[in-house]
Amino acid sequence: MTRGRKLRSRPDRRAADDRRRLTAHQRGYTRRWAHARRAYLMDPAHVLCAHCLALGDLTPATEVDHIQPHRGDRRLFWDRANWQPLCKSCHSLKTARDDGGFGNRRKDFT
Ligand SMILES: [Zn+2]
Repeated sequence: MTRGRKLRSRPDRRAADDRRRLTAHQRGYTRRWAHARRAYLMDPAHVLCAHCLALGDLTPATEVDHIQPHRGDRRLFWDRANWQPLCKSCHSLKTARDDGGFGNRRKDFT
């Protein structure tokens, strides 16, 4: 009997798989986080994307980013001084950079 050959695993594939070993919930993205995140983004000081703002663009923030990747560290995860408001595209770019997307090595999830 013939079976389809399995996809060869490339380094970038493995990085993505590592990240999926933990569920979002296990990484700290709980209901409590959803609540805190929403409150943070509703604060008038956090309505604009920090990265876009630095470039002079006014883009509504939709994501709360961990400036320093928390790597599962609860203290870093919940430290508001380590949070920044980002728009989806800035957050994706930063996450890809930190995670090893676009040909970079994975550091950790943000
Ligand atoms: Zn942005």
